[in-house]
Amino acid sequence: MQTTYKKSGLIEKYRQHLPVTAATPVVTLGEGNTPLVQAVNIPKLLGYPNLELFFKLEGLNPTGSFKDRGMTLAISKAVEEGAKAVICASTGNTSASAAAFATKAGLRCYVLLPHGYVALGKLAQAIHYGAQIIAIKGNFDRALDLVRELAAVTPVTVVNSINPYRLEGQKTAAFEVVEHLGRQPDYLCIPVGNAGNICAYWRGFKLYRELGITSDAPRMHGFEAEGSAAIVRGEPIKNPETIGTAIRIGNPASWQEAVQAQQESNGKIDAVTDDEILAAYKMLGSAEGIFCEPSSAASLAGLIKHLKSGLIPPHSLVTCVLTGNGLKDPDTAQKVTVVDLSPVEADLAPLKKVMAL
Ligand SMILES: *Cc1c(COP(=O)(O)O)cnc(C)c1O
Repeated sequence: MQTTYKKSGLIEKYRQHLPVTAATPVVTLGEGNTPLVQAVNIPKLLGYPNLELFFKLEGLNPTGSFKDRGMTLAISKAVEEGAKAVICASTGNTSASAAAFATKAGLRCYVLLPHGYVALGKLAQAIHYGAQIIAIKGNFDRALDLVRELAAVTPVTVVNSINPYRLEGQKTAAFEVVEHLGRQPDYLCIPVGNAGNICAYWRGFKLYRELGITSDAPRMHGFEAEGSAAIVRGEPIKNPETIGTAIRIGNPASWQEAVQAQQESNGKIDAVTDDEILAAYKMLGSAEGIFCEPSSAASLAGLIKHLKSGLIPPHSLVTCVLTGNGLKDPDTAQKVTVVDLSPVEADLAPLKKVMAL
């Protein structure tokens, strides 16, 4: 029997809005089309019962982060342009995504990781997908400088977000948010690291407004971690620090476009502390059944901060982007919630006692 397999992935779905032609070889792992789920407990918990809050679960992409949206396009275009190898600097998720898509496309993949600052699950992914991993004695910003220098003198394609196709692919997340809500949100809250994703969402929302699909576009509220808040402070940070390793970036690659997105959308790029990030991270798990990365929780932490300061009114329609899957970083989950795992006797009576039944 003839199969009627319908191709999955965001290039097929949104090809009219993407820089592809019929000749572009589509490399897909079924990325995109992630759930938008409504918060049912957090608005009440926070004391804002009229807040309409939705989470965009980007951790449900094939390699567990939104990076797959940009990578399907970056790798497809690299193949179209005849590349044999790709390279990236990464705090972890870019390398996991690049390695997976490069493998599918039959390309070599080199990843430069800042030694000691990559969450366990992300490293395991890059290894598993068969990338050549090089840990460097330097932070992410240094790794990205090296990647740029290497690409200038060797025939490798850079797939960091300085690759123009990355943000083009990532803008499809904004389309999905609009399609799920039937309109644009009033506010989009999003973590900011290299600041590519906030620019990508803004491109997507602007395009839908231009096309008349929406009547307006949301205000973009981006959140850096306080120890890495280069944009907020207005200067690069030499030794960025934060529990959110995916946003531990001292010199954001898309700095200027992000500031422009903030201005054009009447939004705000702000900073949240690690304590605020961890409180939001725990709340997502315990109140909504959502396990995201610590970095991802910067969006909810920022929303809470802006609700409290009055910058976001309490009756708003808000989407928080949860950028990556919590399973990538089990260490942090186990550190922030300490439980007693000492074993009990395998009998009913002691079990009932422990369960207080
Ligand atoms: C890459 C990443 C970010 C930061 O996105 P930028 O586009 O660099 O601002 C945030 N969270 C997670 C989980 C990421 O992987």
